[in-house]
Amino acid sequence: MTDQTLFDQLNIPNTIAAGPGPGNTDARVLARYAGAGLADHMHPDVLRGMIECKQMLRAVMGTQNVHTFGVAGTGWSGLDMMFSAVMPGDKVVMFVNGTFSGIDGLTVRMKAATAEELAANPLDPQTANVVIIDVPHGESVTGDVVDAALAAHKPKWAAMAHWETGSGRVNDIAGFSAACEKHGAMGLVDAVSSLGVGDFRIDDFPGVHGWASCPQKGICCLPLTYAPVSFTDTYIETLRSTGTRTFCHHPILEARHWGIIDGQDVEKGTYHRTHSAYAVSAFHEALRICLQQTIAQRAADYTYHEAALRRAIEAMGCEVTSNMPSLVVFNLPGDLAGREMELVQHCRAQNFGIWPTLSEPVQVRIGILNLLTEAAITDIVNRFAEALRAHGAKVDQADIDAVLRGHYDAAIAAE
Ligand SMILES: *Cc1c(COP(=O)(O)O)cnc(C)c1O
Repeated sequence: MTDQTLFDQLNIPNTIAAGPGPGNTDARVLARYAGAGLADHMHPDVLRGMIECKQMLRAVMGTQNVHTFGVAGTGWSGLDMMFSAVMPGDKVVMFVNGTFSGIDGLTVRMKAATAEELAANPLDPQTANVVIIDVPHGESVTGDVVDAALAAHKPKWAAMAHWETGSGRVNDIAGFSAACEKHGAMGLVDAVSSLGVGDFRIDDFPGVHGWASCPQKGICCLPLTYAPVSFTDTYIETLRSTGTRTFCHHPILEARHWGIIDGQDVEKGTYHRTHSAYAVSAFHEALRICLQQTIAQRAADYTYHEAALRRAIEAMGCEVTSNMPSLVVFNLPGDLAGREMELVQHCRAQNFGIWPTLSEPVQVRIGILNLLTEAAITDIVNRFAEALRAHGAKVDQADIDAVLRGHYDAAIAAE
């Protein structure tokens, strides 16, 4: 009898991760991951690595917040921790302008729901104390919208995505922070797609008391490692007074393993849950790369290469509706409208990993995480032009070449 449950070794091909995330992990990060020795989670070098990560993360995020560290997992792990301070019955205003802020809204409705509200609709509770402000897909959340909603509702918490990756829109973080301060709300921000891509310091936004990001987008550390989070002392004091119903994602308890105890940095962490020497080494290297390249230089590189991609996509007759530096979201030329999924699947079948939008309306998304070279952008553009032609579109390669040459040659000439 053959064993039907023993499968062949799993081989996963190399793809061009040209979507909204995960991004392409740096070879240096993978080398540290595979190169770490097998050490237990309380080994002095693992604990030292975590302390160093914590300090580098404060520099990457631009903060003096003592409670700055990583949550094992992905973006939702960090967000789950950040939203853990929201308790049943808390009043919250959420600004939603796409897929991800929409899920943030669901998370908060689950956490703020009373027991009765949750039982009435466990997977999608309608929570009276949570006000969802819907901003149309393709538009940004503006400071005025935030100001008006917080004035009207006076919530304890307000939450927004910094960059909404579903629609590719940059939201007004300065306006959000100012409105939170003015109306006495504590701001919570989903910075999953902006950290490591945009040039900002979280301490410049004092109305925001909780931040959560992810390992595998701007930080380029896919061997799933740590979702960066940062909390102000006000957030931690609030949490201390209410408590929260999680052990694993408890901001105060998890911080202990990173050497943050009673609001102070201590020399080494104490056990909260198991950490992996591989993950710590990889995350450490990813943060070193961020700081070596500098956040400002990375941000400038994203802006520069996104402009090249955007121009080339527009030259193919597409209409770009995003304004995010790591991602271009667009409508196909009129005669291809409605064939977005077919086109995306055609590209994905060739290991060219682009994405559709995950909620209505259907659009195409092409991202450039850690693909910041002229060669990489040219490859993406040529592959996409080829896919459009395969679907019957008239795309003149000479026009596209000229657009890219114009963009990159102008930069060389300016040097
Ligand atoms: C990607 C993303 C998430 C989800 O992150 P995961 O790493 O998939 O858990 C949440 N919010 C935003 C804004 C994102 O871009």
